[in-house]
Amino acid sequence: MNVYDSARIADVLAVEGYKTTKQAKDADLVVLNTCHIREKAVDKIYSELGRLKSIKKPGALIAVGGCVAQAEGVEISRRAPSVDFVFGPQNYHKLPSLVTRAIAQTGKKNKHQSIIETDFPGESKFDFLPNITKSSSSAFLTIQEGCDKFCTFCVVPYTRGAEFSRLLEDVLKEASILVKTGAKEITLLGQNVNAYHGCKGGLAQLIQALVKIDGLERIRYTTSHPNDFDSELIKAHSDIPKLMPFLHLPVQSGSERILKSMNRRHTIRDYLKLIENLRNARPDISFSSDFIVGYPGETDDDFGATMSLIEQVGYSQAYSFKFSKRPGTPAGEMANQVPEKIKEERLSRLQTLLDEKQADFNKRFIGKTIPVLLDRYGKNLNQLTGRSPYMQAVHLNCSSMKQTTEFLGKIKPLSISGVHRHSLTGQLKTSLFKEGKSLKERQQV
Ligand code: SAH
Ligand code: SF4
Repeated sequence: MNVYDSARIADVLAVEGYKTTKQAKDADLVVLNTCHIREKAVDKIYSELGRLKSIKKPGALIAVGGCVAQAEGVEISRRAPSVDFVFGPQNYHKLPSLVTRAIAQTGKKNKHQSIIETDFPGESKFDFLPNITKSSSSAFLTIQEGCDKFCTFCVVPYTRGAEFSRLLEDVLKEASILVKTGAKEITLLGQNVNAYHGCKGGLAQLIQALVKIDGLERIRYTTSHPNDFDSELIKAHSDIPKLMPFLHLPVQSGSERILKSMNRRHTIRDYLKLIENLRNARPDISFSSDFIVGYPGETDDDFGATMSLIEQVGYSQAYSFKFSKRPGTPAGEMANQVPEKIKEERLSRLQTLLDEKQADFNKRFIGKTIPVLLDRYGKNLNQLTGRSPYMQAVHLNCSSMKQTTEFLGKIKPLSISGVHRHSLTGQLKTSLFKEGKSLKERQQV
């Protein structure tokens, strides 16, 4: 979501004449778009602000946006007085006036406080954002924001505010612009994306409407909450080929006791039933999840239950985190905190198992041909990287710079020839023919 927000921040500033620079030291205005979800992300901001202060151009403005700005506006101003203004995630449509105010304030002798804009405004920022002028082949589109669920560990309901859905017509309009300006794949975003209620029929209806946009070839949505699936959304996975067979479905823990304490409001049984229903609708669907280890009171048995759940579901990838105490959240105040050393040890065991499951999943693709949307340049010269329908990262080494440019942003059938820790390597299907492969090998691809 922050990637989407940053792109929209750039759009708003483009209207004011700003262009993005490659390096912060060349910028007239540096905007840090921040995340408050875990403590580590917050710590990074203060070290980054220190670095920016020493490298910035004389007179350049520094702004902090996003959820840390929302949660710690005054604290940022106190700890980093070099920051000119601070704005919350619901306020970035106000950037033009914030910039004007900040410029007016620079040079004033008594400037010792940042401008702070962290109210939750009555209006929706989406109604004030300029039209998108350019999209990458794989685009994000925020359709829902905020959360009313209040899981005990999480700051989102406080930093992003209450649940809000954009109207179906507005989403369709933005999606059409994204497709016209380059998108082949759209990932619908929301903190609880499947709680979308911008139309009567919810997310399933929105997806059905999106399918009709000519040129849009892939649809994804993230992050969904297990409690917000209706039968129509499950059915959409069976009826709509453009809906990709991959779902990020966070469960956090495999222990019933811990789920209850987290206020997740579903059981492991509910979660497994949902996975079964989705697999019945789309047999090749693969899943990822988020896991928290070392939630207060988590015992060896609770952790063991999480490991068993991973074995049972066999995720194709996942994110995992050590529990991080967040200010103002109930879990942050709980007495039975798990020692750091145990958290580290559990996280390492969990990640080893998740890596094994990911490798098992990826190995199945050796020799198979899958369509890959080559949406970015890879790390090596003449290399492109893209995503399979199952969200695997796939690298393609192109034969020339010309081919790299020609293939960027296209969906190509790639025959999978290599499996690495978290990615695959593919070869263009036609190139196998040129290499004189046997008929049998050719039929495999
Ligand atoms: N709405 C999504 C999650 C959004 S937050 C859902 O309910 O699944 C993204 C992830 O950050 C969460 O799934 C959780 O695994 C992690 N997270 C949130 N708060 C955390 C905390 N205090 N400590 C560690 N991880 C946390
Ligand atoms: Fe946070 Fe997700 Fe729970 Fe909402 S549902 S409180 S965003 S973890």
